[in-house]
Amino acid sequence: MSGWKTRTNLVHGGTRRSQYNEVSEAIYLTQGFVYDSAEQAEARFIESGPDEFIYARYGNPTVAMFEERIALLEGAEDAFATASGMAAVNGALMSLLKTGDHVVAARALFGSCLYILEDILARFGVEITLVDGTDLNAWRDAVRDDTKVVFFESMSNPTLEVIDVTAVCEIAHSVGATVVVDNVFSTPVFSKAIEQGADVVVYSATKHIDGQGRTLGGVVLGTKEFIRKTLEPYMKHTGGSMSPFNAWVMLKGLETIDLRVHAQAETALKLAEALNGHPKLLRTIYPGLKDHAQNALVQSQLGGKGGTVLSLDVKGGQAAAFRFLNALEVAVISNNLGDAKSICTHPATTTHQRLPDDQKVELGITPGLVRFSVGLEDPDDLIADLTAALEQV
Ligand SMILES: *Cc1c(COP(=O)(O)O)cnc(C)c1O
Repeated sequence: MSGWKTRTNLVHGGTRRSQYNEVSEAIYLTQGFVYDSAEQAEARFIESGPDEFIYARYGNPTVAMFEERIALLEGAEDAFATASGMAAVNGALMSLLKTGDHVVAARALFGSCLYILEDILARFGVEITLVDGTDLNAWRDAVRDDTKVVFFESMSNPTLEVIDVTAVCEIAHSVGATVVVDNVFSTPVFSKAIEQGADVVVYSATKHIDGQGRTLGGVVLGTKEFIRKTLEPYMKHTGGSMSPFNAWVMLKGLETIDLRVHAQAETALKLAEALNGHPKLLRTIYPGLKDHAQNALVQSQLGGKGGTVLSLDVKGGQAAAFRFLNALEVAVISNNLGDAKSICTHPATTTHQRLPDDQKVELGITPGLVRFSVGLEDPDDLIADLTAALEQV
């Protein structure tokens, strides 16, 4: 399988067939596995091979198929599937850190990631320094000899700043820190974060990997040594494993992810180009636009692809943004992203509601900002929907 190209791996990678030789991957909806003998049970608890399972919290054949397939896509040695994206972030950080350690993280983070750092890890005596992720000098100034982990979203939510993965990894590695990248917005299709130096990559599989808004899931990717020796013991004993049914949904999602994400990014660029400079907008933010502050990095780091999300700053603040959202007829108001359906969100009053106003300002989460996750609809219908809704503002 290592000789196959991406699309082939996404359809066939990791497949394990039962004695029935089914075409579509089987769902092994079982908590446990029967041993042939007491001796076999004992031996498996001492050491289990890649196709020997004990209990679904430790591993399961359907989950293993998903882990192998996503590892092939990411170019990682190994992967561990988790119950949600947050179980992946929590597992990666908690399994690496202990009291007295120092973490440097980008300030622009998903709210729950910030909670893990500032509320949970801080409670256990881990010191956190937050920096502007796009400022390499800020990273250089913040890392220290006792910095154990460097953590950031490679493309931030919802303002879509792109962080230089190669440069930040070099800075982190100069002090021996482990780099953990939350790669959701870059997507596993466009990102090559491991190749660019990341030690650990995490995804919320809930987003593009499912891609049709059905199930929660997550995954942590890294070296075999890290996944099996550091992460797996933490995950299997604390209970954040992925269910076999969800793993099956994610496996099916991987079969089409390359086609879906390319189509979504192509449409996102069309929408951004159609709306850029619109008189009702203060700003059209899309990393794939030439005028985006980190577009050069998009070219070198993401193969020129700006992702599947754009953010629009509507003139007239919250009232104008709400009028715009309420006038949309194709796109729905919700909070997921990476879905086949276009989804729009008002971050200031929903996903980022709890942030104090000064932090919202610092992160660029203005009252007029609308996040638009581009789906698989016809681009012309989406452009018509967005422009008609802007007329209502
Ligand atoms: C959605 C998301 C998460 C959390 O994932 P869940 O599957 O909802 O737990 C973490 N990080 C980023 C960047 C996300 O977009």
